[in-house]
Amino acid sequence: MSFLRRWFPSWFPSADRDEEAALAGQINLPPAYVKGCIFCDVRKEKGFNIVHENDDLIVFKDRAPAASEHLLVIPRHHLASVKALRKQDIFLVRNLEAAGAEALTSLGFAPSDQRFGFHIPPFNSISHLHLHAFGLPYRSRLNWQFPVAVKTGGKGLSWFVEVGQVYDILGKDREVTVLPC
Ligand SMILES: [Zn+2]
Ligand SMILES: [Zn+2]
Repeated sequence: MSFLRRWFPSWFPSADRDEEAALAGQINLPPAYVKGCIFCDVRKEKGFNIVHENDDLIVFKDRAPAASEHLLVIPRHHLASVKALRKQDIFLVRNLEAAGAEALTSLGFAPSDQRFGFHIPPFNSISHLHLHAFGLPYRSRLNWQFPVAVKTGGKGLSWFVEVGQVYDILGKDREVTVLPC
């Protein structure tokens, strides 16, 4: 169950040993920490405004809020982007969304005023998977609009994908891309 270890390293007490083995090339485990990735090192001391964190994920405030409230939810484990997600990762995305929703709710946003989604490379700023969690209204509406109407059961051409579309696309064993998928 390597994908479980990928998303919930805390469930696996042997994770440290496994990482050593991975570094030694003995087993094929994705790296938990990527040197130089600022989202692999999110800490209060680094200036991040952390709203919630647990062993698997961190919720913090975006430095350039595009909505009344704008949070980022990241897995501690490094994954480059939404493009790297596969069907088995739906569970992870649901966890990220749930953490974002809980944080937004605790900040006073009703579920109807909450939106969640990912930038699609090359339109992402930082290459460590991060879910955008917005408490509406948007501040800079233009930045977050979908250029093409949403397609049923997937998405049209766009550089941003809503979390519901991600579930549809991954559920059909497809990958998220800028092009219609
Ligand atoms: Zn990272
Ligand atoms: Zn982004």
